[in-house]
Amino acid sequence: MELEAKVYIVGSGPGDPDLITVKGLKILEQADVILYTDSLVNPVLMERAKKDALILKSAGMNLEELVDCMEEHVKNGKSVARMHTGDPAVYGAIYEQMKKLKQRGIAYQIIPGVSSVFAAAAAAEVELTIPELTQTVILTRAEGRTPMPEREQLKDLAAHHCSIALFLSATLIKKVVKEFLEAGWNENDAVVVVYRASWPDEKVVRTTLGSLDETMRKEGIRKQAMVIISKAADEALLEEGTFESKLYDKTFTHGYRKGERV
Ligand code: SAH
Repeated sequence: MELEAKVYIVGSGPGDPDLITVKGLKILEQADVILYTDSLVNPVLMERAKKDALILKSAGMNLEELVDCMEEHVKNGKSVARMHTGDPAVYGAIYEQMKKLKQRGIAYQIIPGVSSVFAAAAAAEVELTIPELTQTVILTRAEGRTPMPEREQLKDLAAHHCSIALFLSATLIKKVVKEFLEAGWNENDAVVVVYRASWPDEKVVRTTLGSLDETMRKEGIRKQAMVIISKAADEALLEEGTFESKLYDKTFTHGYRKGERV
């Protein structure tokens, strides 16, 4: 693919350099300028950049500096790859970048990536949507310095009793547990925490709501963690129940197969 003089907003995946998309990698390999946060995007990926690429760390830049930098290079005819962690659409702070780029007439394109929520589910071997248990996944966060909209309070979301994946919440666990219990969850409900999913030091910790705070403290997990609270992560419950998808049920007819009579 031939890159243009514009900004490519690329999802780099959750950490493992093999978990970037083929398209994301092609852009990374061909971009003239690469902007990335070294604490979140695996620096190993930068070895794939072309030799004369300009690689800049964005951690110290504010929004204005970031956009100024993109503008300068695009106006000089360069392709700019802005590497994001996971998928850019969740907690990627891309909205404000896009808005400013649009105001300045700078073209951009978004390339999706594997979000850490899916890398965490893979590491923990959890299907987030098990028929008859839960068919919904809520991606959210605990309220920290960023306030939660009034109608998205954790205890209201938790009341759905579906799979709930918490980003950016590792240091707010006491509050999380309190709100889940208020919403009617039990202390012995299952929680799986995945620290640095897909990185070499990944850790999968299975616990319960009641022990969550203590477990995370004992394991020293304070950041880069996905907290999945879900019946679908409850190994004991899955062991005793038979929750099977209708898709493979032999009595179920669908577009590609006629069900048998039993
Ligand atoms: N856009 C990213 C999320 C950025 S917000 C994505 O799609 O994954 C940063 C939060 O994402 C962290 O606080 C943590 O909750 C989660 N996170 C990012 N990388 C992670 C990883 N490798 N393992 C577990 N959680 C991760």
